[in-house]
Amino acid sequence: MKKYALPVIMLIVFEAVAVTLWLTKDNLFYLYNFSYIGISISLGIFLFIRKYKHARRIVQLLVGLYMLVYLGLISQENMQIEGFWYYLFTGVFEAATIHYAVAKIFGPLIFGRGWCGFACWTAMVLDFLPYKTPKQPRKKIGWIRYVTFTASLLFVAALFLTHAGNIETIMFWAFLIGNILYYAVGIILAFAFKDNRAFCKYICPITVFLKPMSYFSLIRIKCNKDKCVDCGKCKKVCPMNVDVTDNSRKRLNGTECILCMECVRNCPKDAL
Ligand code: SF4
Ligand code: SF4
Ligand code: SF4
Repeated sequence: MKKYALPVIMLIVFEAVAVTLWLTKDNLFYLYNFSYIGISISLGIFLFIRKYKHARRIVQLLVGLYMLVYLGLISQENMQIEGFWYYLFTGVFEAATIHYAVAKIFGPLIFGRGWCGFACWTAMVLDFLPYKTPKQPRKKIGWIRYVTFTASLLFVAALFLTHAGNIETIMFWAFLIGNILYYAVGIILAFAFKDNRAFCKYICPITVFLKPMSYFSLIRIKCNKDKCVDCGKCKKVCPMNVDVTDNSRKRLNGTECILCMECVRNCPKDAL
């Protein structure tokens, strides 16, 4: 039963967040929302432990579609980075600010970039493309993420500074157009660089939060040096070019790990 500790811990963490927010914000939505996400993630980890091949993809679809279709399109909550800035500027600790605090700013101190591996609705689509492992060396254009990050901040700041009317409607359209752009750029880059995760590596503004926080992540993939035979398979299958056999926090592309577990699944010696 010990091997099922992780899904149980994840469920407890999410239930604690769900109940705390429900009681402090006096809003039942938080109980449903975080319970649903917690159950989906725990189910995925449980299925992974049971060696079900599509465990991660199931969680991606359960959480990604819920956030994109239900929260984004039906409930019209802008959960993208522009939505985060918007709620932050209005001083409201709701929807996108809570989502960012849990999944992308403080949560990564515990579960690293698990969001990127299991829940992101952009990657949910990109992971269907044919280049699951990068076919070209990594490019030195990661600086683009700081440009997109700044652009998102300036866009929302400009709305406030110009006292734009109908700001809620603008944010909804920003969500729609932003997502279409993300998918278009993500798909074009995946084919251009023969790498499904090229968008994540070079463009995504959210990595400006995710990378430094995940450096300190409690949950990390570690290598048992006594079992490892240096076959290199883990590095070959890694979509993010992480040197996972190096246990230090400074390992090559360490803050790129999305906890997808492909290295663990493919290690012939169960060393990870
Ligand atoms: S890097 Fe960005 S686009 Fe990629 S999975 Fe993470 S949040 Fe999603
Ligand atoms: S796949 Fe396993 S055995 Fe091979 S290098 Fe990686 S950790 Fe070592
Ligand atoms: S293959 Fe391993 S090291 Fe690479 S991103 Fe996935 S979990 Fe992290």
